[in-house]
Amino acid sequence: MSVNESIQRLNAIPFDEITKSYQTPCFVYVGEKIEEQYQRLTKAFQKADVKIKYALKANNNISILKILKNQGAGLDAVSLEEVKLGLYTGFKSEEILFTPNSISFSEIVEAVELGVQINIDNISLLEQFGNKYGSSVPCCVRINPHIVAGGNSHIQTGHIDSKFGISIHQLRHVLRIVEKEKIVVNGLHMHTGSDILDASVFIQASEILFDAAVNFKHLEFLDFGSGFKVAYKVDDITTDIEELGEKITSRFNEFCKEYGKALSLWFEPGKFLVSEAGYLLVNVNVIKQTTATVFAGINSGQNHLIRPMFYDAYHHIYNLSNPTGTPRIYSVVGNICETDTFAMDRKINEIREGDTLAIFNAGAYGYTMSNNYNSRPRPAEVLWYKGKISLIRRRETFEDIIKAMLPTEI
Ligand SMILES: *Cc1c(COP(=O)(O)O)cnc(C)c1O
Repeated sequence: MSVNESIQRLNAIPFDEITKSYQTPCFVYVGEKIEEQYQRLTKAFQKADVKIKYALKANNNISILKILKNQGAGLDAVSLEEVKLGLYTGFKSEEILFTPNSISFSEIVEAVELGVQINIDNISLLEQFGNKYGSSVPCCVRINPHIVAGGNSHIQTGHIDSKFGISIHQLRHVLRIVEKEKIVVNGLHMHTGSDILDASVFIQASEILFDAAVNFKHLEFLDFGSGFKVAYKVDDITTDIEELGEKITSRFNEFCKEYGKALSLWFEPGKFLVSEAGYLLVNVNVIKQTTATVFAGINSGQNHLIRPMFYDAYHHIYNLSNPTGTPRIYSVVGNICETDTFAMDRKINEIREGDTLAIFNAGAYGYTMSNNYNSRPRPAEVLWYKGKISLIRRRETFEDIIKAMLPTEI
């Protein structure tokens, strides 16, 4: 979806009613957009036995999880708490893939007890796993194929010194452990980073996975991770999912023939499913003019949406209160005592104090990366779905800020 379509979709939301009922700042999610993304993805890969494991670290609200569950998605969980959230929402344990990094073996044991699919991403844990479970519990192995996708270096996970996955160059070591401990490896996994633009990078990485896969006898699935790019800027180029679908499925099905068994093709997108469905609505507290800059200071900050500061991510900003105002150049900044610039030298329809702005692509890694810095509460989350507005997480209060602190005699 382009940013222009995002604007149209935004204008179809009764945001006046939402801000009147729930105030700002608040996250608003469009349920139908999530469904649309899910259907587009599964359709592109329909010629294979495709399974989508939604990476819930992107957005963990149980209402969002339920929408995806109803579509037929499973989950990719990166912590025990995410596993528990999935089970709590009603996902079956076998629909959940547990893909942690740098955790202790005791967490793997707990996840095995919860019955979820384990994905192991280092040799030491694989050895411990084999030693404890032998052939009694299957596991997936996360391979790092060392394919580096383009774009932002903060979100690449495939380079040679990445902490994620087991290097493809250590495959022989993996195979020795698997053989010695009789481990049933039922899946191979890779997740190279977050910005895969063209099919050729994906194909290149999948060839590496296919080459590795022939060494394992009990495979049921291959998991190609994520990396589907969505539009952030007006003229952004995004992953051509349909082209990718055609190419990957035909190569995948060919591989299944070579392997002698019909495997499932797994993906674990986060951003692709939920990013564009979300908007962060904020209000403009102050306009401040310095010698060189016009600042629009909003009632939110890096405590609510950290991507612009953490990843240098571009998030489109739209003036809901004055969409036809004469465009002027602004720096949109937050209210946190830290440089929290949402947009620098950005052309936006004239902003006045009190205006409501919408920050785009706030559906993924918005709320889940938010925090209480400056002792400020997190915003509310609102769902717009089937023509209905629902508050799906209340705004935090001062009581939430202090509830885990234990007063002591000082
Ligand atoms: C974060 C993550 C994803 C999802 O990435 P997106 O860029 O949001 O699609 C998928 N798999 C794993 C293992 C992850 O850590």
